Amino acid sequence: ERLVGASADGDDQAVEAALRPKDLDEFIGQEKVREQLDLVLKAARARGATADHVLLSGAPGLGKTTLSMIIAAEMGAPIRITSGPAIQHAGDLAAILSSLQEGEVLFLDEIHRMSRPAEEMLYMAMEDFRVDVIVGKGPGATAIPLELPPFTLVGATTRAGLLPPPLRDRFGFTGHMEFYTPAELERVVHRSALLLDVEIDAEGAAEIAGRSRGTPRIANRLLRRVRDYAQVRADGVITREIAATALGVYEVDDRGLDRLDRAVLEALLKLFGGGPVGLSTLAVAVGEERETVEEVAEPFLVREGLLARTPRGRVATPAAWAHLGLVPPQAAGP
Ligand code: ADP
Repeated sequence: ERLVGASADGDDQAVEAALRPKDLDEFIGQEKVREQLDLVLKAARARGATADHVLLSGAPGLGKTTLSMIIAAEMGAPIRITSGPAIQHAGDLAAILSSLQEGEVLFLDEIHRMSRPAEEMLYMAMEDFRVDVIVGKGPGATAIPLELPPFTLVGATTRAGLLPPPLRDRFGFTGHMEFYTPAELERVVHRSALLLDVEIDAEGAAEIAGRSRGTPRIANRLLRRVRDYAQVRADGVITREIAATALGVYEVDDRGLDRLDRAVLEALLKLFGGGPVGLSTLAVAVGEERETVEEVAEPFLVREGLLARTPRGRVATPAAWAHLGLVPPQAAGP
């Protein structure tokens, strides 16, 4: 379990649910998506119609599930939540689709991970509100068409480019979710602190926001850990000092790097002079699997401009040296 991981694995679902904004006004940041979605939903409501299908792309923890719930709430519709990996057979999808109520919102997380046959069934369901249920096997199999009530599909994916174009084209609206700015994350932290009944000052919130990797889910998680610390070791009030000390205990540094991230950077700088070094060699040096280094540590290091992936191997940037307080070896003289 990673304190700075962006996925919800291991999080207390009840607490996450309690912290979710309930309508578009409460939803912090993502001005573009919010404004566009507001128009889509208002127009649908004015027409008395079901809202167009919506595709939300963006990294985990940025608020895609929250937005899908808000869409349902704003449309006064019920919501069903499932995910691509949970739908392995077209029959699984047919069962869900055929039980939807009119106007219902179907949230399909990780929609790019659906099986091919399910995906093809979804094309027709999205476009014609119809599915063909296959009965029987082999040459005797027959397709029985089944009418569906109009519904709104909200698909979520980490990258819209992962979707096959025919699927992407069937969404009326695509919202691209960006990482949050520190100022926006401060607002998230203040809002959550209020809901959790925790006292926090502006600098305490800024300290947590700065370590949250642009991600509200991480901000909320760090806030809960800092709250524990404040209650056990102090008077319960979160100040900059309390936040910094608490997150130091959990080894989350002032830029949001955790122990693994720093181990990768440190090996790159201290053992390989900043690179270039191959991924496998770097992984052995930190005692981790290649995949762990590549998929867990590197994306954030690359995003932060601390590490670059080049054809010759991994290379540290000047910012990486500065962040670890190390001096790069002298460049070769003229
Ligand atoms: P995703 O589905 O993209 O992984 P979620 O919608 O589950 O992300 O959001 C993760 C957590 O972050 C939720 O508990 C929610 O409270 C919080 N959160 C996400 N976006 C916002 C936002 N814009 N404002 C306030 N809190 C947010």
